[in-house]
Amino acid sequence: MPHPLRVAVIGAGVAGLAAARELRGEGLNVVVFEKSDHLGGMWRYDPRTDSDPVGWDPSREVVHTSLYRSLRTNLPRQLMGFLDYPLPNREGGDTRTFPGHEEVFWFLNRFADEFALRGLIRFGSEVVRVERVGDSWVVESRTRDSFTREDFQAVVLCTGHFTEPRLPTIPVHEFVLLCAIYGFLSVVIVIGFAASAFDISRDIAKVAKEVHIATRSPDVKVMKLANHSNIWLHKMVKCVSEDSLVAFDDGSSVYADTIFYCTGYKYHYPFLETNGIITIEDNRVGPLYKHVFPPALAPWLSFIGIPEKDVIFQMTELQCKWVARVLSGKVLLPTEKEMMAYVEEYYQQMEKNGFPKHVTHHLHFKEVLFSLVIFCSHICGMNGESSFSIHVIYIYIYI
Ligand code: FAD
Repeated sequence: MPHPLRVAVIGAGVAGLAAARELRGEGLNVVVFEKSDHLGGMWRYDPRTDSDPVGWDPSREVVHTSLYRSLRTNLPRQLMGFLDYPLPNREGGDTRTFPGHEEVFWFLNRFADEFALRGLIRFGSEVVRVERVGDSWVVESRTRDSFTREDFQAVVLCTGHFTEPRLPTIPVHEFVLLCAIYGFLSVVIVIGFAASAFDISRDIAKVAKEVHIATRSPDVKVMKLANHSNIWLHKMVKCVSEDSLVAFDDGSSVYADTIFYCTGYKYHYPFLETNGIITIEDNRVGPLYKHVFPPALAPWLSFIGIPEKDVIFQMTELQCKWVARVLSGKVLLPTEKEMMAYVEEYYQQMEKNGFPKHVTHHLHFKEVLFSLVIFCSHICGMNGESSFSIHVIYIYIYI
């Protein structure tokens, strides 16, 4: 019998755990590299922040999680598990529909134990270089006291994409105070208008004097948020002057003590060397066939968990099943030429519909609707009809 393929999975978060299970299920020889000493990726809360929280310093100490203490999931618990392994209600635990982050971390550990995945993971092993040499990948990794260079036939990238900050370009004078300290009487600016910006604004408003949210949304007028005595909404920050006066595009301005950037993250694979086959431009990782396989390197390199605005656990699991079956030879990919044609067509469609490059990996209406309908029908069957209405409402909000 031929030896099973040797596959390196990089990262032991949601994506890496799902990949390990699926690849091993297909009889492949899997090694999971995990730079930290725990599994679960960003779902392990860490009160520390990066040594340079806005990421200007490339040599900063990176804390691989962007969880804040108060975070609860923004998807209902019924969508926070895997297709065949749902997130249950913990006995005597949190029964809320949107659980806290601790429960997700607990669940991922339980998943790893249930499927005996820990033995596949090399904890404390950071991958520092992945390079195609001949017919294999050379993977270089380091631990606290060793350096290893090994060959693998395939590499599955599961390193997440919520650590490298994406900052808006705002003319800022030398003075800018960032993150960390806020307190009574502070005036705080929160830049961004997505889930984290809302959560964080509400948290800060409990202790700050004023919170001002700045957004790029075109329809916003300066206004105080209903049900909050000290949160205002503005258009984007135009500039910050030397005396800490923050001016907004809507003509208003305030003197501020602290600015929080809640502006998201960028894709970042500093260890990956592909001779320019894969590039990251304006947050587009490409070319990738269906956000997973680079046509010229498929199936020997794959990216898991790239799409955004989706039901992440289950989307990730489906991607892993696809990669595992392709690598085991059960499922065939189209030819390189066909995959490239698909990617080009996708880019052209985006352009035609007016979508900017940086939203390449946001699943668009059709795909999101399709995946949610599948997931919801699954969940309906699993949990009974009472939960279905929640998902239908969620689909509506989500789209
Ligand atoms: P990660 O969880 O980031 O795991 C990547 C792993 O790779 C880490 O363990 C890291 O240490 C390891 N790694 C990285 N580089 C290397 C290297 N070079 N060598 C070795 N190991 C490496 N999703 C939801 O479904 N519901 C939510 O409510 C939700 N809320 C979120 C809130 C916030 C604030 C953020 C930022 C994200 C949220 N997400 C949510 C998305 C979340 O990222 C996914 O749920 C999920 O954690 C992604 O898993 P992952 O495995 O792709 O990445």
